[in-house]
Amino acid sequence: MTVYSPATIHTRTNNPYAFGELEHQDGAHIVIVDDSAANLRIYAKIAAGLEPNVRVHSFNDPRKALEWLTENHADLVISDYKMPTMHGAEFTRHVRQVPTCPDVPVVVVTAYADHDFRIEALESGASDFLLSPVDYLEFQTRARNLVRLGRHQRLMRAHAFSLEHELKESEKSRDELLRHSRERLAQVIDTVPAMISATDAEGNCIFVNAYQGSVLGGALRRPADSSPELDRQVLASGKALEGFEETFIDNAGGARTFLTVKSPLREADGKTIGVLTSSLDITERKRAEAQLVYLAQHDHLTTLPNRAHLYDRLRRELESHRISGRVFALHFLDLDRFKYINDGLGHPFGNRLLQAVAQRLQHAIGEGDMVARLGGDEFAIIQVTATSPSDAAQFASRINQLLLDPFVIDGRKVVTSASIGVTLYPRDGESVEELLQNADLAMYRVKASRRGGFTFFAREMLQQAHEAIRLQSSLPHALEAGEFVLHYQPQIDLRSGKVMGAEALIRWQSQHDGLVQPAGFLRAAEETGLIQEIDQWVLHEACRQAKVWFKTLVNPVRVSVNLSPLRSSTSSIFDMVMRQLDATGLPPTLLGIELTEEVLLQRTHSAVRDLENLQQRGVQISVDDFGTGYSSLARLTSLHVDQLKIERTFVAGLEDPNNVAIIRAVVGLGRALNIEVLAEGAETGYQVDQVRLAGCDAVQGYYTGYPMDAGQFEAFLRARPADQRAQQQPHRMPAAQRQPALAVGQRW
Ligand code: C2E
Ligand code: MG
Ligand code: MG
Repeated sequence: MTVYSPATIHTRTNNPYAFGELEHQDGAHIVIVDDSAANLRIYAKIAAGLEPNVRVHSFNDPRKALEWLTENHADLVISDYKMPTMHGAEFTRHVRQVPTCPDVPVVVVTAYADHDFRIEALESGASDFLLSPVDYLEFQTRARNLVRLGRHQRLMRAHAFSLEHELKESEKSRDELLRHSRERLAQVIDTVPAMISATDAEGNCIFVNAYQGSVLGGALRRPADSSPELDRQVLASGKALEGFEETFIDNAGGARTFLTVKSPLREADGKTIGVLTSSLDITERKRAEAQLVYLAQHDHLTTLPNRAHLYDRLRRELESHRISGRVFALHFLDLDRFKYINDGLGHPFGNRLLQAVAQRLQHAIGEGDMVARLGGDEFAIIQVTATSPSDAAQFASRINQLLLDPFVIDGRKVVTSASIGVTLYPRDGESVEELLQNADLAMYRVKASRRGGFTFFAREMLQQAHEAIRLQSSLPHALEAGEFVLHYQPQIDLRSGKVMGAEALIRWQSQHDGLVQPAGFLRAAEETGLIQEIDQWVLHEACRQAKVWFKTLVNPVRVSVNLSPLRSSTSSIFDMVMRQLDATGLPPTLLGIELTEEVLLQRTHSAVRDLENLQQRGVQISVDDFGTGYSSLARLTSLHVDQLKIERTFVAGLEDPNNVAIIRAVVGLGRALNIEVLAEGAETGYQVDQVRLAGCDAVQGYYTGYPMDAGQFEAFLRARPADQRAQQQPHRMPAAQRQPALAVGQRW
């Protein structure tokens, strides 16, 4: 027997229309209670005809019926009223108390006269009553209706229960879903690489995600002082704050930058109840940005500030000095002959030299000063600590001294020097460009003097620079117009006192500017490529003149020619020289070639072979401006040069024992390699004596002879006394040579 509890109905089916199924599977259970066995039989017979599959349970004792009802389900109860153990009203009351039977239809059967009993039965909870003797049709109709009604009621209740249950279930699952998604959200919030926290309207922290905990060590309060104030702003306005950057110190003690956004936390009704703060870690991005800024402002080789940075800084200094009215200095610095070190000893070596120079400069500057690399071998120093020209002069001279100290790079000793041009704000310029340009101009002036040092910018330099530019524009015509001339400077044998040779030095006899020295136009000629034609002309002219002297003089002199370092690799020195020797018929032994040591070092194998071939034919090969420190002994030995010409700065600075030591060292080297040593630039008798004492073989300088034009030189030779060693008098400068120390256009 199946008991239908609402729960079982639900578990069996959720479908309220499953009623039909129920009806067909199980017939109605009808309980009949009567103390008369005859009545029981009659009622059972009538009930069985109610519908198919009816199950009738008959009891002659109401107490037995109640027992059964507590265990089973009934669709209808029919009870007699007058029974010996319990009357119908009492029985009904009991039925109603059985938990499973609160609304089982109960029909009480009474006699027609028992009016009071009927009332009593209904009051005790009976659903209906029947009069006895029972009418068969009435019994069937009422009983059927009551069974159906009961079923419907039960079904309705089951349906309602099921609905309620479903509702509960769905609520449960919605809650579940919510809880689940909340958990997932919390997980996401925790793993998001951003600090997320919330504060309530009182500013109390109500939520901190795990990330924030890991960064700030679980500190509930954000360490930024501005935070509470900003929170109040958000609370007051109900509007989000635009992202702003904050810097925190994290657990590890490192500074971290965050991009923070604050937005209002709202309830469903839109009321702001707190502030949500989320901060994205942008430390890496900032670092990358800073790195970019750094790269944009620094030179990667030396790590010094670069040109752009210098400009920025200069602009700022101009601004602040304009207001304060104070002075500052700008030094424009260029390494002398760096190109040759770079080409001769290799770019990696050159780079290391630049780094070493940068380091020295960096150490030399004062606090607040700035040294920048402008590119190549150019540096600039903003000396804000200079308050007067003499401060700037002292500093520039200190830098000069500092760089003269040899550098040791990869175990190799190199010497360099710097040319420095100095401008003072506001005297020499009031804009960044003006100050830099003028310092550059002054620097070039130092360069043109062919020795390191410094000079202040002077207004005349501008005028001269303009003239130089004008001069250069007429340079290409100078060659066609035959305006170049060669002057000859005697080279004296220090043992015999004889004129052993002459160096051919070019001059430009300009229609407009008079005699222009090589410093005034050679650089421009090199820059424009005109130098190659000029060198050809010089070589030809020198050979022609030497051939004339060879034919006319008793003691012919060897003429030396300078060859420009900038030579296209395709043109062969050997071919060029041999062509001129052939063209003029000059014996090769009466020709010399001067090349600077840096140039010799960067020569290719074919060029070295060229020089060797020339040497074998008797052409003298000299190393010009020797002693500036780049030559390696091994290289010199392999080059088989004939003569070393000691740089004139060493001779000019003979008071310095270092210079004497260098001259002696070169002499020692020359002796060891069987190379003649000539001292350049001796201007005094003392200097001539000193270089002789030091062991030099020859001398070339103003004291023993100025550069002279061919006619003067010839006269010079003819005028020399028979015993040349007796000559004590210094050479008097020929009139044609008298000119200002710095010729027009000496910027180049
Ligand atoms: P350099 O080859 O070292 O020539 C010697 C320079 O020293 C010459 O300058 C000469 O006048 C100068 N000098 C000689 N004795 C003294 C002295 O006692 N005191 C001083 N202060 N100077 C002295 P110059 O003629 O102005 O030539 C400068 C440089 O121009 C030369 O240096 C050489 O490198 C280059 N040069 C001259 N002529 C030619 C040429 O025809 N072709 C090429 N490619 N370069 C040339
Ligand atoms: Mg020379
Ligand atoms: Mg020289």
